[in-house]
Amino acid sequence: MRIGYGWDSHEFKAGIPLVIGGVKLPHGKGLAGHSDGDVLLHAITDALLGAVAAGDIGSYFPPNDPEWKGANSAVFLGEALKQIAKAGYEISNVDSTLILESPKIGPHAGEIQKSVARLLGIPCNAVGIKAKTPEGMGTDDAAIAHVAVLLVKKSGTRMAHRTKRTSKSKSRRRG
Ligand SMILES: [Zn+2]
Repeated sequence: MRIGYGWDSHEFKAGIPLVIGGVKLPHGKGLAGHSDGDVLLHAITDALLGAVAAGDIGSYFPPNDPEWKGANSAVFLGEALKQIAKAGYEISNVDSTLILESPKIGPHAGEIQKSVARLLGIPCNAVGIKAKTPEGMGTDDAAIAHVAVLLVKKSGTRMAHRTKRTSKSKSRRRG
């Protein structure tokens, strides 16, 4: 088993779309950043990479690289998923806490949970989405995300032989 932890923050900026967990939320301000500013997906990406000691989001997608300007953060998450698979792990569950003054996350938590579960290829009940307001922190202009993940060793190779993954495991042969 492996545990991973990720953290991210982005500043609110007027006139850009707000995307959290791959879901566009109705709000006058979005999160500024070199990509789409999806603070939750960035924290999940770092948590996954950290769990297999494979660096962090910036080592794969440098913030000064124009290629990632406005990028869909699902691309970053995809790279992290590749890295954990390469290390022989799969996700058991993910838990997250968002800290932001507004908008209220509660009404959208179900949709965010569904989106994150779909992107990670795990069931909804393995994705925790919690939110708090930044009481006394003075971070009303920012959105912050904390994420913990638990990885488990990928299920045995015996199963792989019985399924379509056989060809994939062949191509993974050393050489
Ligand atoms: Zn970020």
